[in-house]
Amino acid sequence: MRLRTRMPKSARVAAIALALAGAGLSTAVPASAAPAPESSVSYVKYEGSSEEAKANRAFFEAVIRSVAEKRAANPQAAAVTVVYDASRAPTFAGQIARSTSIWNGAVANVKLQSGSASSADFSYREGNDPRGSYASTNGHGSGYIFLDYAQNQQYDSTRVTAHETGHVLGLPDHYSGPCSELMSGGGPGTSCTNANPNAAERARVDQLWANGFAEALDKALGKAR
Ligand SMILES: [Zn+2]
Repeated sequence: MRLRTRMPKSARVAAIALALAGAGLSTAVPASAAPAPESSVSYVKYEGSSEEAKANRAFFEAVIRSVAEKRAANPQAAAVTVVYDASRAPTFAGQIARSTSIWNGAVANVKLQSGSASSADFSYREGNDPRGSYASTNGHGSGYIFLDYAQNQQYDSTRVTAHETGHVLGLPDHYSGPCSELMSGGGPGTSCTNANPNAAERARVDQLWANGFAEALDKALGKAR
């Protein structure tokens, strides 16, 4: 496992946790089921005791940069579109489609679209992981949402998928919130089945993509702002 020297504290903690989880798992989980811990230095979970704000921010920034770089190369494109690759999470195809439909109906300034691995800004993966479901990125264009089999049977699976996708769109965790909030994640318990972002969450995503995308596009085009 490689650690960068200037990694933020939260990422170091996550990296150490990943290393420990990886060590304990080596015999229990097939190599193909869980992603390689070395590929991720930060992640945000569906349920947890603290907000992984830096990890979430890193994923969002990597995605918005990826979308802006494609737009800079193709200025005629009409909508701000985040492309995902769902080919490595076939069990969750229905949940991913529903999450996409929910988000595309809820926000105006960014759209999710299914695409190939080569064109994707992020991907979905599935498997067994004691950490549960999470969004993970190395901050350099290889972010993915991991959907854990056990947790998706315990909690409403469409809510888990839409929640993790909310991280990609820029929203932080807020575990103390009510079931009506998507980003409260596992906080309200397993009985919560709401998979829709509330009005404040929708407004926040629209605001992030209105302001953040213009800035990312200027950077991709090499303009000062
Ligand atoms: Zn979360």
